[in-house]
Order: sequence, then C-alpha cells, then structure tokens
Amino acid sequence: MESAFHLYGHELYISSSIGIALLDEHSPDVETLIQHADAALYYAKNEGRNNYQFYNQSLSQKKPELLKLEKSLRHALEYEEFVLHYQPRVNTVTGKITGMEALLRWYHPEMGIVSPNVFIPLAEESGLIISIGEWVLRQACKQNKAWQDAGYPPIVIAVNLSPKQFSQPNLVEILTDTLAETQLQPEFLELEITESTAIADLDFTTTALQCLAQMGLLLSLDDFGTGYSSLSRLQVLPFHNLKIDRSFIKEITIDPKVAHIIQAIITLGQSLGLKVIAEGVEKTAELEFLRSIDCDEIQGYLFYRPLSIDQATEVLKNEKA
Ligand code: C2E
Ligand code: MG
Ligand code: MG
Repeated sequence: MESAFHLYGHELYISSSIGIALLDEHSPDVETLIQHADAALYYAKNEGRNNYQFYNQSLSQKKPELLKLEKSLRHALEYEEFVLHYQPRVNTVTGKITGMEALLRWYHPEMGIVSPNVFIPLAEESGLIISIGEWVLRQACKQNKAWQDAGYPPIVIAVNLSPKQFSQPNLVEILTDTLAETQLQPEFLELEITESTAIADLDFTTTALQCLAQMGLLLSLDDFGTGYSSLSRLQVLPFHNLKIDRSFIKEITIDPKVAHIIQAIITLGQSLGLKVIAEGVEKTAELEFLRSIDCDEIQGYLFYRPLSIDQATEVLKNEKA
C-alpha cells in the first residue's frame, strides 16, 4: 500500500490498518474470529492507524448490545431518527435567556431514546460522528436563524464538537459553508469543546481555535474541571466562555472546599476575560451561592431542561412578552 495509486491524474496515498485474530481457544469459531479481528482493527486505528495489531483478551470485547446499537447507528441519519433538543441558559442576575445548547437525541425504533453519552462515543469510534455532526450543525444554525426571522430576541446557539470533529481538516470549510447556507451570522454560533479535547494537543488547539475565533464564532470550554488541567495552562487559548462541569456544581452546597474552588475558578476565569457559565444547576441554594460569587450565567434543570423545538419556541415567545 505504500506506493502511490494513480487515479484520473491524481496521486493518491492510502494507509491501511489491520486487525488480526487467530483461530485458537479464545477465537474458536468463524463468528468470534471475525468479531475479534474487528476488535483488533479498532485497536489498530486507535493506535494511530497505518499499523497492525493482534487480538488479545485484554482488548475489551464490546457487549453485544453495543455492537447492535452501532449497527443501527449507521442508518439513523438516513432514517431521520435524530432530533435536536435545546437547553436555554440564562443570565444569573436578570434571568434572561442568553443562549441555547443544541443537544442531540436519538429515537431508536426498538430501544426508544438512547442517551448521547452512549451513542456519541460509538459514533466517534466509527467515524459516523462527522456526518452526524454536520447534520447537528446545520439544524442548529437553521433553527436559530428561523427564530431570529420570526422576530424573537437574538440568542446564541451552542453546538458540541467531539474530538474527531474538532480535528477534522475541513472544519473551517464546513462551518463557513453552513453559515452561508443558513444565513446565520457567526456571532450567534458557539462551539463547545471539552477540556480534555482542548488539552489533547495544545499546539493544534491553539491554531484551530485562532482560526475559528477569526471567523467571528464564539468558543466555549465545556466540562471544565474534568480534564485536570489548570486555567493558567489554558489561558493561551482564545476561548470566550468557560462552562464549569456539573460534577462540581452538585457539590457547592455540600462541600465548602468545592465552593471555595468554584469561587476561585470564577474569579480567575473572569480576570482572564472569560464569561463563566455553571452547568447542571438544579437547586435554588446552588443558584443563590453562584449569584453571590458573581457567576455570569446558569444552565440547568432549575431554569430549563432540554426542550423540543416547539417548547423552546414557546419559551422564547414568553421571553419576548
Ligand atoms: P454537555 O455538552 O456537557 O451537555 C450538558 C449535559 O448536561 C446534557 O446532557 C444536559 O441535558 C445535561 N444537563 C443540563 N442541565 C442539567 C441539570 O440540571 N441536571 C442534570 N442532571 N443534567 C443536566 P445530554 O443531553 O444527555 O448530553 C450529554 C453529553 O453528550 C453532552 O454533554 C455532550 O458532551 C454530548 N452531546 C450531546 N449532543 C451532542 C452533539 O450534538 N454532538 C456531540 N459531539 N456531542 C453531543
Ligand atoms: Mg456542551
Ligand atoms: Mg458540559
């Protein structure tokens, strides 16, 4: 495979990843053998592609339910089984909606609603996340533009980007095309990447984010606190918003140490020019504490759960009134 292939005057290079399983006591029949070769193939791809790996028992075998889900995920876009829900976030002082986060839902014909925490990793692993992500982006931009055209106060729509989406080479092109197609101004689109995605390769992240910021998009650091990095390491990155993970917010009224840490994060974040958003606020006591320490915005069940398009539209209508 190393030599170039010539196709209609183009020189193409193809890399290959190979998974190998041997017919032995661990892989005794054809079906298991193929399953194990497949597991080894995933491993080879995870190891950076263009290599081969042998199956061994430590390669965690996927449960049959997951394999089944992964198979039906391949058709989910085509069968129109995806829906976006929108969770509003509000200004801590005024309670006014400042934006909505687009959250993907999969209605599986047999299994019902499947959580994104289950299917996003599968989509990521199989590469399906690229086409699913483009669909999410287009729907979210289209919806935000439709709300603006209907005369509702303009808000930001936030879309989550998985690690693979974030590192795809044509991300800027896809974003430019989607904004042009949907006629949404870039300042109304926010991209969320998680702390662990951001720190995986700081050089790459810096360059990519600078490009996106130059396009006029808003950038948000999601799930902050879960990636064990420090704000001082992240301050080189051109983020606009910092979203503190729910796992901390849950603790602020229980553990005084966590409360102090959150207070410090908010102060430091704001001094670096970031707007700080608390995720997963469920209790009035949490809101009161966050208000007392000047957290900018709140997203959580206390105000709104993720809403269907109709519910979200209704909420915007009331907001206007
Ligand atoms: P996330 O980006 O951190 O989104 C916030 C999650 O917290 C959502 O879960 C939301 O429903 C939940 N949440 C918000 N407020 C509360 C609260 O007060 N209490 C509790 N218990 N939960 C709250 P959801 O919708 O299940 O999404 C889970 C994760 O899946 C998201 O975490 C995000 O990482 C990923 N995800 C969702 N949609 C997409 C998508 O379109 N693309 C990609 N790449 N990832 C997505
Ligand atoms: Mg998010
Ligand atoms: Mg989050």
